[in-house]
Amino acid sequence: MVSELKLDTERLLQEAKKSILYTANRPNLVMEKGQGVYLWDTDGNKYLDFIGGWAVTSLGHCPEVITRVLAQQSVKLINASPAFYNVPMIEFAKLLTDNSCFDKVFFASTGAEANEGAIKLARKYGAKYLNGAYEIITAIDSFHGRTLATMSATGKQKWENLFEPKVQGFKHVPQNDVTAMQNAVSDNTCAIMLEPVQGEGGVFELDKAYIQSLRKLCNENNILLIVDEVQTGIGRTGKLFAYEHYDVEPDVMTLAKGIGGGYPLAALLCKEKFDVFEAGDQGGTYSGQPLGMAVGMAVVNEIIDKNLIENAVKQGAYILQQLTSIASRFQLTNIRGKGLLIAFDLPTEKGGEVVSECQKRGLLVNSPRPAYIRLMPPLTVTSREIDEMIAKLSEVLAEVVSE
Ligand SMILES: *Cc1c(COP(=O)(O)O)cnc(C)c1O
Repeated sequence: MVSELKLDTERLLQEAKKSILYTANRPNLVMEKGQGVYLWDTDGNKYLDFIGGWAVTSLGHCPEVITRVLAQQSVKLINASPAFYNVPMIEFAKLLTDNSCFDKVFFASTGAEANEGAIKLARKYGAKYLNGAYEIITAIDSFHGRTLATMSATGKQKWENLFEPKVQGFKHVPQNDVTAMQNAVSDNTCAIMLEPVQGEGGVFELDKAYIQSLRKLCNENNILLIVDEVQTGIGRTGKLFAYEHYDVEPDVMTLAKGIGGGYPLAALLCKEKFDVFEAGDQGGTYSGQPLGMAVGMAVVNEIIDKNLIENAVKQGAYILQQLTSIASRFQLTNIRGKGLLIAFDLPTEKGGEVVSECQKRGLLVNSPRPAYIRLMPPLTVTSREIDEMIAKLSEVLAEVVSE
C-alpha cells in the first residue's frame, strides 16, 4: 500500500515537471489534504503548517465555516456577472466598511489586482485634482505584487532590472526615514504606498511616529496615504487592520491573503473623498462574484465572532516568548513581529537549510531572506501547536546551527 502511494507521488512529480511552467523551486512532494494547522502530502506525511498558505489560511485548512458556505452559496448563485449587484457583495462591502475607517470597496481576486486598483485610483485622483501628478512613493524592500505595475511599485533590489521597461512613476525610499520621504515628495507625487509591516521583506514594521508624520505630510500635500494590508490585514497583526496600531487613518487600503481564508479574494477600500473612478475605469470579470463574497464574509465574521484577533495577540506573544527562550542556545537575533506575523534572524544564511530540515521533520516554515525565518500560522493556532513547532524547530536548529 505504502509503496503504491509512493510510486504515485513519483509519477505525479514527473508529470509536474513535464507540464507545469517552472516559476519556483518547489520541494519534491505533493500536497493532498489539509485540516486545521496540518497538511498531508501524497505519501501520507503530516506537516505542522506555520507558513499558513502564505499568511492565507487564517482559519486553518479546510475550516467548516468555509466548506459549509461554499456548499450553500454554490447551489444558490456562483456568478451573476460583474454587470450586476448581488446579495453577498452588498453584505460583505457593508461588513468591511462598518469595521474599518473606509467608505467604499472594490472587490478583486488577488493582492496584486487590488494594488493595481489602488495605483489607478491614486493616479486618477492626481489627474483630476493634482495637475496630473502620477508618482507614487513606496519603500525599499517592500512587496506589492507581481503584475508589471506592482512589480514596479515593489522595492525589491533583485527585480530592479527585470522585465524592462518598468511601469514609470515609482520612487523607492528607505522605510522609517521621514526626511527621505519628505525629500521624495514633489509636485509630481500623488500617493505614498506602504506595508504597515513589510511581510516579504522579512517582517519589519513601520514606526508609529513615522506613519503619523506621513499622515501629516499627505494632508499637507493633498496626496493619498495607501496601506497595502494584503498580508497584515484581517487580524494577522493582532488588530483587524494593522493601521489601527498607529492611531492613523489611511485614505486607501488593500486586502487579500487572509481575507479569503484560502479562497482567492481581495479588496480595495477607500474613503469617500477618493471615490474618483468613473464607469469603465476599473473592473474585472470576477469582481464581487458571489461565491468569493460569501466565503470572505464567513471568514471575517468568524474572526470577529470567535475573537481570533485576541488569540493572535496571545499566541503571537507566546511564540515570541518561546523563541526568546531558545535564542541564546541557537544565536537567534532580532526576534520580531506583530500578532502572528513573526520572524527572526539566524546567525548565518542557512534559511534554506532550516526550511528543508524542518520539512523533513514535518514542520513548514518560511525563509523570506537567506538569514531570516518567518512564521505565519493560522489565527486559530493553539499553545500546544506552538510547543510542537518550537520542539521541532529546536531539533533542526541544534543540527543546522552549532550550539
Ligand atoms: C502577497 C502580497 C501581495 C500580492 O498578493 P497576490 O495575491 O499574490 O497578488 C501584495 N502585497 C503584499 C504586502 C503581499 O504580502
